[in-house]
Amino acid sequence: MTCSSCEVGIDHCHGTLVEHVSGFVECTDTDCVGFGAERHSLVIDCEAVEGGCGCTAHPQLIAQADPSAMGVETPQDQLLRAS
Ligand SMILES: [Zn+2]
Ligand SMILES: [Zn+2]
Ligand SMILES: [Zn+2]
Repeated sequence: MTCSSCEVGIDHCHGTLVEHVSGFVECTDTDCVGFGAERHSLVIDCEAVEGGCGCTAHPQLIAQADPSAMGVETPQDQLLRAS
């Protein structure tokens, strides 16, 4: 894969930088040599990772944040559907 940064020789990465809630950062490119956001064209929160990320699996925290966004059914949801 070649992009404009490749052509001009800028240090960059084609992977997706994933920033975890805990502050841990990783890249989808196994050959990645630096986890700086500035050298990645795509930076996402680990909560946006397809299938979710284990580091956000804290039920209490998720419930307080936004249960509907996590696809977790609340008792209220179930009541609404039953009625
Ligand atoms: Zn490139
Ligand atoms: Zn995570
Ligand atoms: Zn990378």
